[in-house]
Amino acid sequence: MEPVRGFFADNALLSHGWSRDVLFTVDGSGMVSSITADAERGDAERLGGVVVPGMANLHSHAFQRAMAGLAEQRGDSADSFWTWRRTLYGFLDRLTPDDVEVIAALVCCEMLEAGFTTLGEFHYLHHDPAGRPYDDIGEVAGRIVAAAAATGIGLTLLPVFYAHGGFGGAPPADGQRRFVNDPDGFARLVESAGRHLESLPGARIGIAPHSLRAATVGEIERILPLAGGGPVHIHVAEQTREVEDCLSWCGRRPVEYLLDSLPVDGRWCAIHATHMTVAETGALARSGAVAGLCPETEANLGDGLFDGPRYLAEGGRFGIGSDSHIHIGLAEELRLLEYGQRLSSRGRNILCAPGAGTGESLFRAAVSGGARALGQPVDGLQAGQRADFVVLDETHPSLSGRPVERIIDSWIFAGDRSCVRDVHVAGRRVVADGHHVARDRIRSDYVRVMAGILG
Ligand code: ZN
Repeated sequence: MEPVRGFFADNALLSHGWSRDVLFTVDGSGMVSSITADAERGDAERLGGVVVPGMANLHSHAFQRAMAGLAEQRGDSADSFWTWRRTLYGFLDRLTPDDVEVIAALVCCEMLEAGFTTLGEFHYLHHDPAGRPYDDIGEVAGRIVAAAAATGIGLTLLPVFYAHGGFGGAPPADGQRRFVNDPDGFARLVESAGRHLESLPGARIGIAPHSLRAATVGEIERILPLAGGGPVHIHVAEQTREVEDCLSWCGRRPVEYLLDSLPVDGRWCAIHATHMTVAETGALARSGAVAGLCPETEANLGDGLFDGPRYLAEGGRFGIGSDSHIHIGLAEELRLLEYGQRLSSRGRNILCAPGAGTGESLFRAAVSGGARALGQPVDGLQAGQRADFVVLDETHPSLSGRPVERIIDSWIFAGDRSCVRDVHVAGRRVVADGHHVARDRIRSDYVRVMAGILG
């Protein structure tokens, strides 16, 4: 085990707010063992800049990064999520496990450079292009683990249970054959994925029934014990058509049906939860579940707007994810979350309390919600949490001269990943001066793989 190391920050955002001259120690397993403000530096490593906690990216389908930008031409008919999904299904027939590993490594690298330190991979590309399980049913899950290990990002793997093509147990479509398992096959998959994760320190596993379209309530009840106390993620109420289909099938809306039928609590993460009534919004907030918001993907797919003000007023928790990876940006996800509300309500500074900074409020809430949703000890810089932190470049034009209380607002609304100087995961520096330590190799592997897929 490595010895305890010390780090010193001139300014750091701690759980109770900004502190100066912060000395913290990191033990051999990468956890913060002590943290003191107004301290002497001693022989600790000086981080400089401004130090903020690492953020979890709670919703990702890594392989989709490779098709970002390929579904942006208008088709003959009204374009929608469903035409995007057709492009996706045509594309993923070409991907091998090697390809997935290379694409996932790029995603992890880009996330780290943006300031995300933990990946929640909602992993559903399980089988070969003909729909046959690989010899190891967790083959592709193992490739996600390998990509995380190669880049140093924290990982919560969420193997997806996918069985049907629509509500009420409708048979899956041909394009879904790489995703489909029955509950017994899924149990083998979770077991295999768990074995792959044993090699990755700090990794967690949960489960992800894909949606109420792709899994019946009976099947979800059957697979829930496989979560073993870990997180449970599900896509819900992303699209108005999903709401209409759910209503015509069972007379209830998706979030209503989910909360009525399953034991949703603080272990659960409701991905998107875009289309909710006032009653559903309050009920989801009170359930303790985290809403997994993916503003850039939701905008790209034309999903709709989450009712943030009402949900936050009800005490709801949320985190953010980059989902389809149409773009990977921490600042941009939080900015768009707020801008959607500004555009619809014709006001400013909507998603924060009076007197607070909007960017910083959203950042702190998403750090906390992301940690909870992924079951990871990454809820801010404090003793007992993993030493995941980001050093912002205080000389960046968008940050320079700001008081620390305005730094995160400036990053979120006026900056981007170029404000991120260094990123540490479990005390280990994986991004230095804005570049992931293995960026060149990861990018050249990616360029080679893309030439093969699209060439
Ligand atoms: Zn998704």
